[in-house]
Amino acid sequence: MNAKYSGRCLCGEISYSVDIEPVFTGNCHCKNCQRSSGGAFIPAMLFPEKNVLVSGAVKYSESQADSGNIHKRGFCPNCGSQLFARFGHMPGVLGIKAGTLDDASNYVPTMDFHVSSAAPWDFMDPGLPSDSDDAQPFAPADRLQRASTAFDVG
Ligand SMILES: [Zn+2]
Ligand SMILES: [Zn+2]
Repeated sequence: MNAKYSGRCLCGEISYSVDIEPVFTGNCHCKNCQRSSGGAFIPAMLFPEKNVLVSGAVKYSESQADSGNIHKRGFCPNCGSQLFARFGHMPGVLGIKAGTLDDASNYVPTMDFHVSSAAPWDFMDPGLPSDSDDAQPFAPADRLQRASTAFDVG
């Protein structure tokens, strides 16, 4: 009942809940995220897929990231809301788009990434590390890799 994280699409056909903390949170400003969301960036939370309870039939659409990796975006076939993401290079990981959370304050981004693709009207928190920052200890790819190796995806 009292899931840590819960959310749904606009029409309510798709809903989800998760009982554990995300292994990664961050805002992706890549062009594909802009185009698919219609907004400046996608606020993403990554969880082990086995810990996410999904209700409803999600449809996935496939695209290729600049890195060459396959990215599948999960949306509600009825209302079109984007809720989820799956990554070809990180099996067992499910991304949740934080705009679909019931309680928006549950999302705490830890970084901005792909900021070189950001729209000129995009606004970012100057207090957050980004992948344009040389002092950033880990590139996002490394952090995501660490996140994925934190699971038993074998
Ligand atoms: Zn819907
Ligand atoms: Zn992106």
